[in-house]
Amino acid sequence: MLVSLSQIGDSLADVQKKTELACARAKRSLTDVQIMAVTKNVPLSHIQEIFKCGIQFVGENRVQEAAGKISAWPPDSQIRDCPFWHLIGHLQTNKVKKALDLFSCVQSVDSMRLAEALNQEGKKRGQPVNCLLEVKVSEEATKYGISPQDMSSFLEQMSALPFLKIDGLMTMAPFFDVPEKTRPYFRAAKNCFEQHKHSFASAQPILSMGMSQDFEVAVEEGATMIRIGSALFGARQPHQ
Ligand SMILES: *Cc1c(COP(=O)(O)O)cnc(C)c1O
Repeated sequence: MLVSLSQIGDSLADVQKKTELACARAKRSLTDVQIMAVTKNVPLSHIQEIFKCGIQFVGENRVQEAAGKISAWPPDSQIRDCPFWHLIGHLQTNKVKKALDLFSCVQSVDSMRLAEALNQEGKKRGQPVNCLLEVKVSEEATKYGISPQDMSSFLEQMSALPFLKIDGLMTMAPFFDVPEKTRPYFRAAKNCFEQHKHSFASAQPILSMGMSQDFEVAVEEGATMIRIGSALFGARQPHQ
């Protein structure tokens, strides 16, 4: 159920409070963790409201859905601005051009084929493409990504793609009823992140991990960006 507009501020305050406590437990600073609002299936009114609350990053899973939302705002609207919109879902190579018209960062680079397509489009535009590499820390067949063992050779190949700017890593833990069970997966992603930190283009590389169900564990394990949907906007319908 979608929350009412007036509830969004309170939902965000609750997520912020929990993030702050998780930071304190891990002796981290709250300023080291960005909260991204995930807005799949969320109406424009609610996105506008979360933007007013000061959220700076929005994540969308699908190019087509994001296109509809972004084009709904007037061209001079701040909400259309980078770095607001990030793509966090799997991207097909035939949608690369469209994706780069909309998103300031592709968090879901999960194959060399996609990396090459993004690099080529960046080259065409004369502008490097900001991205994160999706690291696959679980054995689930349904998940995309590069395994930690393959990360070194992947990054080596990426050095031949000058129009890709790798700002860090993104990951998803498997779903558990007990959030604590996600810890080993987040720890594996953090290890991979530390191991390859020197290869990332940004001085403050991003480790994007943790969702509504498990973000407190992710923050304790070192997330610098958490991706929060249902804890802000209400639970999605089961089929979505
Ligand atoms: C939907 C989604 C989220 C947010 O999930 P919630 O459980 O609603 O917080 C985060 N990351 C990705 C990649 C998603 O698809």
